[in-house]
Amino acid sequence: MVPLPFANDMASSQPDTANDPLRIGEAIHALLARLFPLHRSQTGAGNRQTFEILSELVPWKIHETPSGTPAFSWTIPREWEITDAHISWSGRRLVDYRESNLHVFNGSRPVRARMTFAELEPHLVVHESFPDAIPYRTAFFRDHWGFCLTRQQWEQLKLLDGPFEVVIDSREFDGSLTHAEFETQTDAEKSFLIWAHCCHPSLANDNLSGVAIAAWLARELAQRPTRHNYRFVLAPATIGAINWIHQNDLGPFVGGIVLTLLGDNQPFHYKMTPSGRTEIDRAFEYLALTENANIRRLEFDPLGYDERQFGAPDCRLKTGRLTRALPGEFPEYHSSRDNLEFVRPEYLGESFELLRRAIDIVDANRVYKNLHGQCEPFLQPYDLYRGFGDDRPASFSPTAVMWVLHLADGRRDLIDMAIRSQRNWNEIRAAADALHRAGLLEPRDIQRDPPG
Ligand code: ZN
Repeated sequence: MVPLPFANDMASSQPDTANDPLRIGEAIHALLARLFPLHRSQTGAGNRQTFEILSELVPWKIHETPSGTPAFSWTIPREWEITDAHISWSGRRLVDYRESNLHVFNGSRPVRARMTFAELEPHLVVHESFPDAIPYRTAFFRDHWGFCLTRQQWEQLKLLDGPFEVVIDSREFDGSLTHAEFETQTDAEKSFLIWAHCCHPSLANDNLSGVAIAAWLARELAQRPTRHNYRFVLAPATIGAINWIHQNDLGPFVGGIVLTLLGDNQPFHYKMTPSGRTEIDRAFEYLALTENANIRRLEFDPLGYDERQFGAPDCRLKTGRLTRALPGEFPEYHSSRDNLEFVRPEYLGESFELLRRAIDIVDANRVYKNLHGQCEPFLQPYDLYRGFGDDRPASFSPTAVMWVLHLADGRRDLIDMAIRSQRNWNEIRAAADALHRAGLLEPRDIQRDPPG
């Protein structure tokens, strides 16, 4: 049993509350709140501190890739560190990094200068929609620096006109890029990737909701048997994904999913892999069709999060992506308004539940062949009802039995059968289990769809 991060959380709860989405959402939100203040970036101490806190849930393996290491056509950047930053006037800090780590462009080069407003202004960014919001900007892979501030701060600087003392105490050095991995069953034949980017400072929905939900799911899957190995990876967006793909054999994967933007009140958006036919794609097709009208499915496009890297033509592991809001399409996106009030426990809990359901479906999915083949078998002697066991008699469905017999052609898997029959997954699975036990069905290896 892995030690728990919070004194009053699920450790002391009864099994029924352990499955209560609101309780789960509250625990995930509490975890997210602890991670929120840390200054994450592409590299650096904030990322390591994040992984240290998450190691209270499961023992993450921390990987360090040295600066300068090639990854395809990219190079691992130098490590970036910041200790302080401000814009001051007459000794007063008018914009202060100590109040929000969003005030400085992530990856800014160092600055120490006296400037007029006219000189400073090209380095200032305000939010387009919310005067009170601090935007989030980066200077990755650029020799650049800048400040993000509220409209009121910008007006004040303009009025004062300067001279201002402008300071960014940052440095770059030969260090490493850090990512964290955890695997649930290293002896399993196949793996499934669960990926979340971890490189944004104090933003809750964008990056942290995915990180916290992934970590919570890692903890849960580590505590129960599964058929596949669930391989969780937390890494900086883009360069972290490129580096990971460069370092890993993607052959033993049955699929994967990218997680982020899971704490807001929008409907679910599942973005398909390029083929739209992998098991996780079809699990969400089934869920949208049968169980959850709040899911919208999107075709793949080469924009968005790290599914871009996995979707590249020669990448063997294609991933779907689960979000609620869409990146860039909610006004709080990349601003100080994407905070702990914006993400709510009830939505985090709902997202966790949906993800867990999809993973359970993929884990139990199999192809079956009807061994009787010619017309319907005479079912009377088999007593299929008893075959279901006493634990889940509610899943017994004679209709599902007929559908499974009809669809088990040695090519279709259980997800296809649930989609085609529009029966509940539990019924289809229970029918297949009973028919298999009765010797009327035989599992076959799943024929993988060609990638992309
Ligand atoms: Zn982002």
